[in-house]
Amino acid sequence: MAETKDKIDPPVTLVEPIDMSRLDSSFRKEIQSMPDGNELNACFACSTCTAACPIANQWTYKPHQLIRMILLGMREEVLSSKEIWECLTCFQCQERCPQNVRVTDILFDCKNLAAEEGKVPDSIKGLAKELIEKGQLYVITADWEREDLDLEPEVPGMSTDEFREILKATRTGKIVGGE
Ligand code: SF4
Ligand code: SF4
Repeated sequence: MAETKDKIDPPVTLVEPIDMSRLDSSFRKEIQSMPDGNELNACFACSTCTAACPIANQWTYKPHQLIRMILLGMREEVLSSKEIWECLTCFQCQERCPQNVRVTDILFDCKNLAAEEGKVPDSIKGLAKELIEKGQLYVITADWEREDLDLEPEVPGMSTDEFREILKATRTGKIVGGE
């Protein structure tokens, strides 16, 4: 039989194969044991959560995929993902899940676990630092601008003492490398 000279392309890989050796089977149980994780196993991958999510089209991992990754034990990938921090906490996914999976709350749980392991994006650390140091997240309008807007020229000083106590109790300081 005559040999064909046509080059055969390698098969197209649509998704990266999962490295089974890196799966952590305890991750599912860890999330399930949290108050929001009861219904995790009930997910039947319908993607309704993703259809409802206003930001999913910007994400590599969509909400239904994150839930599937948790079920599979892809701990490292989920806790290192930018998506858990970019969630808008709008609860659209959770409200619409036909299986009552608490998608948004589970993403909160993932953020807490990631924070415990020091996997916090620099942008979030910056916000936490502002909060601890100044008791607010946004820069108050500059004096000259306040004058233009006919506002009182000076903003009364903010006491952050009580606030610091709350942040200490929530261990927010740990995020920025303090107490
Ligand atoms: S909507 Fe609920 S059941 Fe459907 S994929 Fe999302 S979490 Fe799973
Ligand atoms: S809560 Fe987060 S994951 Fe759920 S729909 Fe809103 S942005 Fe998407």
